[in-house]
Amino acid sequence: MTKNKSIFKLIMENFLQQNFKNKRVIVRVDFNVPLDNDFKITDFTRIEFSKKTIEEIINRGGKCVLLSHMGRPNGRELKYSLSHILNSVEEILGVPVKFCNVCIGNEAIEAVDSLKEGEVILMENVRFYPEETKGDIDFARQLSKLGDYFVNDAFGSAHRAHSSTTIITDFFKERKFIGMLLDREIKSIDRVLKNGKKPITAIIGGAKVSSKITVIENLLDRIDYLIIGGGMVYTFIKAEGGEIGDSICEDDFCEYSIKISELAKKKGVKLLLPEDVVIGNEFSGKAKINLSSVYKIPPGWQGLDAGPDSIKTFAQIIQKSNTILWNGPIGVFELEPFSNGTRKLGEEIVKRTKKGAFSLVGGGDSVSAVKKFGISNGISYISTGGGAMLEYLEGKKLPGIVALT
Ligand code: AMP
Repeated sequence: MTKNKSIFKLIMENFLQQNFKNKRVIVRVDFNVPLDNDFKITDFTRIEFSKKTIEEIINRGGKCVLLSHMGRPNGRELKYSLSHILNSVEEILGVPVKFCNVCIGNEAIEAVDSLKEGEVILMENVRFYPEETKGDIDFARQLSKLGDYFVNDAFGSAHRAHSSTTIITDFFKERKFIGMLLDREIKSIDRVLKNGKKPITAIIGGAKVSSKITVIENLLDRIDYLIIGGGMVYTFIKAEGGEIGDSICEDDFCEYSIKISELAKKKGVKLLLPEDVVIGNEFSGKAKINLSSVYKIPPGWQGLDAGPDSIKTFAQIIQKSNTILWNGPIGVFELEPFSNGTRKLGEEIVKRTKKGAFSLVGGGDSVSAVKKFGISNGISYISTGGGAMLEYLEGKKLPGIVALT
């Protein structure tokens, strides 16, 4: 690990010292941003976070060639065209950005070659080419013709061995770098996994325990407190013999949840589940609501949020933690009657962060939650990569990162 860290540092130093003057620099960004029905971006974070990397290149006279994917198009589906985001990219970067509606071939090469020092071009969605997700080497070779250097700043795609994220690096040997966003992501997660100041608390929520198994197992060696919230709670409770009414439950994972509780005990990790929960008689914003012990939910009712006593207990843990990782909402925060737990928990994390704790929020839904509640500025770092972050937390090596080292 230390070896890897020093390699990262070296690559970053190398990037920052590189003379990009008049050179073409491909930056694989992750501009896979959410769009509304009018193709307007609803969350600019990924573009904003890559700005520094792009500025480093253009401020030193480089010609910046942006490659990205958007969605999962089936061939050239124009609703996934990156042209929809061009104006926003220009606005955020504060410079004019050209657009090229192909990624490979003469037209693409000519478009890139016509760039002047310090100019930026956004290439069309790399996934318009089915070769991209297959990790096709010939496609990667053709992409590589667009640049003298390659920078990977697409943390959100770093867990994919695709042509533009991983395979392309074969053509750049000593001329490939880690972008500043990717570097910051890795440092932030390592700050929890490898050098977090104790006590370290992980809050794992979301709908299902099955999707978080490896993450939880890997975290148990590193953390002091594990708060389990959201729908996965009820698999644990049922395994303990509790009555969970109609709450979401993965029966196949009851045994596993017992194993997790035992493992936590063995490793000295205090595992907390909610004691009281807000229940609803249906999964809807119009549901009748009530409070219940998590062990005694009546038939016809389901647990949909953490109750006030649970939040109080979780808050006490958060207020004594120096490192906090949060992945997954602890209730159905999208529905107003069940949003309180997730909102309060977020506010507690912000409060503790103000007092010096390091907090990291990652995973699509918890990120949406902190944004919805307007508290994202109070979190130390918000990850831009859902799947990539989860895989990194699981202890997996991400191909896009391995390829750079
Ligand atoms: P995940 O993608 O696994 O992180 O799950 C996120 C989703 O879990 C969110 O959309 C939440 O609404 C949902 N969720 C949270 N708590 C519950 C619950 N008690 N029952 C059902 N779904 C929940």
